[in-house]
Amino acid sequence: MSDGITRRDALGRVVRGTVLLGLGSTAGFLINKAEGQVVWQVDTSRCVNSRLGEAGAEVCMLCTTQCVVAQSAVRAINSFRDCGRCYVCPAYYNIRSAVDERGLPSEKLCPRDAIRRTPIGFVDPEDPANNFYEYVIEEEKCDGCGLCVKACREPLGLGSIVLKVRHNLCVDCNRCAISIACPHDALFQHKVADALEPTLARQPQP
Ligand code: SF4
Ligand code: SF4
Ligand code: SF4
Repeated sequence: MSDGITRRDALGRVVRGTVLLGLGSTAGFLINKAEGQVVWQVDTSRCVNSRLGEAGAEVCMLCTTQCVVAQSAVRAINSFRDCGRCYVCPAYYNIRSAVDERGLPSEKLCPRDAIRRTPIGFVDPEDPANNFYEYVIEEEKCDGCGLCVKACREPLGLGSIVLKVRHNLCVDCNRCAISIACPHDALFQHKVADALEPTLARQPQP
C-alpha cells in the first residue's frame, strides 16, 4: 500500500470510527427505555441459531413468527468488532448458488435483502479478494428470521451476527410470546440499568 500507510493502519482507522459510531448508537438505544425498566432480550448463547455446537440443526424462525409486533421486534445485528469482514460472507451470499464471472456466489442469502455490503479501508481494485468488507444489517428491512445468524457461525463465519430484541420496537408484553414458544428458553428479562450484561456489552451496534 502506498504513502507509507499500511493496510493494517487503514483498517484500524475504519474500525475505530465504526466503534465510536456504534457506541453512539448504543447510548441512543439505551435512552429509549427508562433506567430500571425491565425489558426482554435474547440470550445469544442459548438461541439455537447462534450458539455453538449446533451443527446440522435447522434454523429457528420463531422469533419472527411468534412476536406480537408486525415484522417482529427481534432483528439481526452484526457486531463489527467480531466480524471477519470477509470477501465471501456466508451470511450475505448464498454460498450454494452458482458462481458468477467474478468468482462470487450469484445469490444473496437474506430473503429480505436486508444486508448491505461495502468495501472499507483502502480498496485494491486489482485484487478485490484482498479487501475488507463491512456488512450492515438494515434493520427496517430485517424480520429476525435468523438465516444470516445461523450462516455466520464457525467454521464458515465468526458468529458476529446475533438476534436481539430491539427495545424501541418491543411493546414489553408481560409474558413475551417468543419466550413461551422458544424451545431453548433463550428469552430473559433484565433491567435497562444492566446495560453491561454480557450479551449486550459485546454489541457495538445495538
Ligand atoms: S425462538 Fe429461541 S431459539 Fe428460536 S430464534 Fe428465537 S431465541 Fe432463537
Ligand atoms: S435475520 Fe433474516 S431478514 Fe434479518 S438480515 Fe438476517 S437473513 Fe435477513
Ligand atoms: S415482549 Fe412482546 S413485543 Fe417484545 S419481543 Fe416479546 S413478543 Fe415481541
